[in-house]
Amino acid sequence: MYFHPSYLLLIPGMILVWWAQQRVQSTYHKYSEIRSSLGMTGAEVAQTILKHMEVHNVTVEPVAGALTDHYDPSAKTVRLSEVVYGSDSLAAAAVAAHECGHVLQDVKGYKPMNIRASLVPAVNLGANFGPILIMAGLFMGAIGGIFIQIGIALFAAVIVFHIVTLPVEFDASSRALRIIDELGILQGEENRAARKVLNAAAFTYVATALYSVLQLVQYIILANSRR
Ligand SMILES: [Zn+2]
Repeated sequence: MYFHPSYLLLIPGMILVWWAQQRVQSTYHKYSEIRSSLGMTGAEVAQTILKHMEVHNVTVEPVAGALTDHYDPSAKTVRLSEVVYGSDSLAAAAVAAHECGHVLQDVKGYKPMNIRASLVPAVNLGANFGPILIMAGLFMGAIGGIFIQIGIALFAAVIVFHIVTLPVEFDASSRALRIIDELGILQGEENRAARKVLNAAAFTYVATALYSVLQLVQYIILANSRR
């Protein structure tokens, strides 16, 4: 692969993504060492919220790995990483409540969540084949132009996905913070800790979205610089 100065454009994006990941890990680590005053585990927090919201068809189960927490709408299951599931820390409460925020989005038919889900097949295609088509096109001479254009269009779907992810994640966190405060799962200052954990997590999505925009710009510059 040859070097083109436009690759330098990606560096600030990489630094931003790296910094966001460091920040979420250190914030998470800090508040995973502080127990909540009520002492509810992540699993108990999730079950309490779901019960309060009268959601009876969603199960809560542990899943292996770190920061693997997610809500699976097709299986109607909240999967909490083993540490979150069994921990009574402030970080565990925040993460568990966030995943329940996604459940509430599902129950209420929150539009951006459906749009995001419908984009997943296009994103898998775009993230895998977009860059391949662009790179192949760059080495193909005159006929390469059409490959590059298709590649860029596919990669644009990835960006739409990352951008639609932002309201979904911010909304899940704001629902989570509201409900843990309302139900008294966390008390006073503890809510601020939960907000910090969820904000740090949300920022990783912002960084990823910005990085994907830089990638697209870089692809366009590369495409225009070929002769
Ligand atoms: Zn989320």
